[in-house]
Amino acid sequence: MKFDTLTVHAGAAVDAETGALVAPLHLSTTFEHEPDGSARQGFTYQRGDNPTQCRLEHALAALDSGDAAVFCASGMAAGTALLQAIPAGSHVLLQDDIYHGYRTLARDYFERWRLRVSSVDMTDLDAVRTAIDPRTRLVWAESPSNPLLKVIDIAGLATLARDHEARLVIDSTFATPALQQPLTLGADIVLHSATKYMGGHSDVMGGALVFAENGEFAAACRLVRSTIGLNASPFAAWMVLRGLRSLAVRIDKHCANARVVAEFLAGHSQVESTHYPGLASHPQHALARRQMRDFGGMLSFRVLGGRDAALAVAGRLRLFTNATSLGGCESLVEHRASVEGAHPVSPSNLLRLSVGIEDPADLIDDLAHALDAR
Ligand SMILES: *Cc1c(COP(=O)(O)O)cnc(C)c1O
Repeated sequence: MKFDTLTVHAGAAVDAETGALVAPLHLSTTFEHEPDGSARQGFTYQRGDNPTQCRLEHALAALDSGDAAVFCASGMAAGTALLQAIPAGSHVLLQDDIYHGYRTLARDYFERWRLRVSSVDMTDLDAVRTAIDPRTRLVWAESPSNPLLKVIDIAGLATLARDHEARLVIDSTFATPALQQPLTLGADIVLHSATKYMGGHSDVMGGALVFAENGEFAAACRLVRSTIGLNASPFAAWMVLRGLRSLAVRIDKHCANARVVAEFLAGHSQVESTHYPGLASHPQHALARRQMRDFGGMLSFRVLGGRDAALAVAGRLRLFTNATSLGGCESLVEHRASVEGAHPVSPSNLLRLSVGIEDPADLIDDLAHALDAR
């Protein structure tokens, strides 16, 4: 099946008991055993596994061309499941530009988990080669990255990781499986915040790990999830499954709108720079073209005049809501440095946009008004 067909039909088998087309939402926390004590259909307790989550995981694995998926309560929970499944004493190599929650996790928790960490600009594979050490067990990249939209050579990185017996995980939240297939490029694991484009409506939290191979490591992550209790509610799984059905068409509209917005910003006199992989001026534009089907709905830009000017622009926007998160139908703007806590790393004049699926003319009007008013 082609991708668009999969989004509609993966994990969508008609319910054998009732004929219902839509997946049943099973809220039961417990399941009856067989007389010999075994699990009737593999389910015993909701925290371990449940039918609604199981359906979603089949769909997630299919969409990312993987062998298995592990669904968790959030993107952070999925990342934590991964980190708790590698041996104590491991070194983790993180990309420099990465979701700030994981950076916080590395700074505040890795030491007590007995993990070592270093970070490097993974657009430079030579720098990665130098930074990998004999105890590196996980190479962790985000592409496109948050919030600078760096694009990482996934196939090149996969070769490097494999040569050093480290697993490669790609946080593909911005791209979704509709635009990029890291497992077919050689990555071992794909990570998604399903809270974003997969849910797609800003009303559910979830996180996914998708594995190239349903082997020991996938089993270890699954065990961490159920032991630590990183699992989502079946209702969240059901909502994400519902969101996946329209993923392909939503993403196409997000991409088309973001391209228009990026071109407008790139040509505006009050904009210092625009970060969007779809622009020919983007440093990894050629790589993005090879590696991605389209360039996504996320972008960021720097406003001339520094922090105050950027905040003023965000404050004048009417249609773009000033809020964190991304991937919903509505357009959002965010001053990244303001939400990064006590140790902001984003440039102080940077605004990040999650471009929604409104009419692009309205989005441009809003941006033009906010930028021209100065
Ligand atoms: C939001 C996000 C996360 C974290 O996901 P949550 O569902 O909020 O826990 C991880 N990576 C990226 C790229 C994100 O945008």
